[in-house]
Amino acid sequence: MIVKQRDKLHEIMKLEALDKRLIHQHPEKEKVRSEWKIKQTELSGEKEVDYPLGFLDDKKYFILHNVRLADSNGYFQIDTFVLSDRFLLIIDAKNWRGRVSFGQNGQVTRYSPDGKVEGFKNPVSQVKTQAFRLQRWLLSKNIPEVPIAYLVDFSFPKTIIEPASPDIKIPAEVIHNSDLLFRIQELEKKYTKRVMTMSQLHKVGELLKSAHVLPRDILSNYHYSSSDIIKGVYCPECGLVPMEKGKRKWFCSKCRCYSEMAFISALNDYMLLFGDRITNKQAREFLKLPSRHVVNRLMHKGGYLQIGRNKGSVYQIILK
Ligand SMILES: [Zn+2]
Repeated sequence: MIVKQRDKLHEIMKLEALDKRLIHQHPEKEKVRSEWKIKQTELSGEKEVDYPLGFLDDKKYFILHNVRLADSNGYFQIDTFVLSDRFLLIIDAKNWRGRVSFGQNGQVTRYSPDGKVEGFKNPVSQVKTQAFRLQRWLLSKNIPEVPIAYLVDFSFPKTIIEPASPDIKIPAEVIHNSDLLFRIQELEKKYTKRVMTMSQLHKVGELLKSAHVLPRDILSNYHYSSSDIIKGVYCPECGLVPMEKGKRKWFCSKCRCYSEMAFISALNDYMLLFGDRITNKQAREFLKLPSRHVVNRLMHKGGYLQIGRNKGSVYQIILK
């Protein structure tokens, strides 16, 4: 059972909305696009674990993605958690392509397909540190001691993992994603003692989910004001902005198409960029509409909840 989904998708949607709406001459336009692409690659790497984890028994295993916990040393983040009544497993996904060479002390050199060579800290010690912090965190919440296993999971089957010299052993915790399911089966054989009841396990899953601290808003890395944001409704067919509002539908003067609900996508963008509350005046500016009555009608048509009455009221936007 998946207890918590990934937050990264939301971050990617935010970056996508900013990339789409930031004016072309803005100095950070390129930076937004490149971070958007990096996050997409990270997510596709992390999602590779979904396939092997999909074979696990839903009733025996609880899965949480992207959990960020606070402790006395700051925050630590775990890509994927697998919880069972016998052990907990931390999976650290590595979306590295090319060749990965393990040297002395587990230090890693990555040779990317584009010829780039980079050194990295021992990924096993990193995930081991996460396991240590998690154990300490669980004890502080009065959770009985549970064995914590950890794996560094290389997402892509074509990544070559090799020792830097013949006398070096690749750490046993380093695996290819195609072996993940079998490693979990080995852990099942290793940890035979039940340390929690299913109801306790359920509580641990919920506790981890509720303790998750959202990272700082990804858009706070960028400097832009409302005037740097392109206003209006985008044409769903050709991307022209702004569409013109007719009596019942929105009209695109370029491809001459009509759309009744194109404003929904604009409100999604507004929510991703500015939050989930919008006043009538803000909606008028953002959707480029002349009257508060038109906004009011559209908001009701879109099914958005109105909070408060008259001038002080706001609409609550949810992603649609
Ligand atoms: Zn169009």
